[in-house]
Amino acid sequence: MFVDIAKISIKAGDGGAGAVSFHREKYVAAGGPDGGDGGKGGDIIFQVDTNLSTLLDFKYKKRYFAQNGEPGSKRRCTGKNGQDLVIKVPKGTLVTDAQTGRVIADLSDDQPVVIAKGGRGGWGNTHFATPTRQIPRFSKPGLPGQQYELTLELKLLADVGLVGFPNVGKSTLISVVSEAKPKIANYHFTTLTPVLGMVRVEEGKSFVMADIPGLIEGASEGVGLGHEFLRHVDRCRLIVHVVDVSGIEGRDPIEDFEAINRELKNFSEEIYSRPQIVAANKVDLASEEQIAKFEEYIREKGYEFYAISAAARKGVDELIHAVARQLDTLPPIKQYEPEALPVVLPEQDNRKFSVTVEDGVYIVDADWLGAILSTVNMDDYESLQYFQRVLRSSGIIDKLEEMGINEGDTVSIFNLEFDYIR
Ligand code: GDP
Ligand code: MG
Repeated sequence: MFVDIAKISIKAGDGGAGAVSFHREKYVAAGGPDGGDGGKGGDIIFQVDTNLSTLLDFKYKKRYFAQNGEPGSKRRCTGKNGQDLVIKVPKGTLVTDAQTGRVIADLSDDQPVVIAKGGRGGWGNTHFATPTRQIPRFSKPGLPGQQYELTLELKLLADVGLVGFPNVGKSTLISVVSEAKPKIANYHFTTLTPVLGMVRVEEGKSFVMADIPGLIEGASEGVGLGHEFLRHVDRCRLIVHVVDVSGIEGRDPIEDFEAINRELKNFSEEIYSRPQIVAANKVDLASEEQIAKFEEYIREKGYEFYAISAAARKGVDELIHAVARQLDTLPPIKQYEPEALPVVLPEQDNRKFSVTVEDGVYIVDADWLGAILSTVNMDDYESLQYFQRVLRSSGIIDKLEEMGINEGDTVSIFNLEFDYIR
């Protein structure tokens, strides 16, 4: 089965927690803090595997996790880093954030790309010792790994895309000009999978041609087959529009030509405006008048025109040379640039909070605070002070004051209640 679009979710590993521990030795009363740092969470990395040609794997497995970092331990032992997870994708896979549509990466070369970063490990309590705080009874949790819902879209890397109605001879054409061997048959929709072929023009000069499954009318509105394959035309520098000029199936070549162009245009104005060369195929079955009439129409519209018989390999070399000539003048295959994250800095974004007052109790709501609170030792003055600093630096205290909190009022954070003391 050929699959060229998939939705998956990924999560990089969380950082391990820092440790709270104190040096212990026989006959030594109270040693200093020696809690090690947590390990870093594993990254999620995407890499092209040229043996893959579809996104089929992602139809079956939809959730991917990298390993978490291990917590730190005593004697300053740093936790082990979580292992990275490498996800193999076919060449030409476009990775976007499914929620925002932001392009994260275009996997069209062999460079591995980190798509989700593992969280940093938390600091062990050794970091928190100061001259005035010699017994830090707290450490920091690791940071969470990044997570995303992703859309993977395979957009083949080809210089030239063959488009046209089913059965006009696209597969035959690619099979005679390249080593590609797609199925050829005299019925519609034989080509269900785009096929790539390397076309050698002359010594040291070649280009990649893609046989795109036949378009049918209404394809761009998602009616029937075809629409989903238009994504593979997306990167093509040049379109070769194959038309059956013989009208052997009771069709009119001019109508066919216009119908396909309407489809392209509905799908994307930009793709429609790409340079197009017209290949009038099956000339062996067509009359002189049929060919002449179609040629006149096409030339009047300003397109290059080639009469060919793919099956008989007639006129094919001229077409290929014309394609190569045009390609020389065209920009390279379209690549997507990763888009920057939206303006909100992750740090600030993570530190969102809200305060509401209910029956005189100030309730602070902040997702990110939970992880910090869970590491605070309520019996330890230093630890509480650290917590206080977090509340201050994140703007929560300012907000409480702004709302008119008084000495002795109750503040509730994750169902823990504190007296407010200035
Ligand atoms: P596709 O659906 O556009 O890929 O068309 P195919 O390449 O599968 O060809 C459809 C049918 O047309 C097959 O039976 C081919 O043998 C036939 N065909 C292709 N090119 C020619 C040609 O130049 N002349 C003739 N007579 N038949 C052709
Ligand atoms: Mg075909």
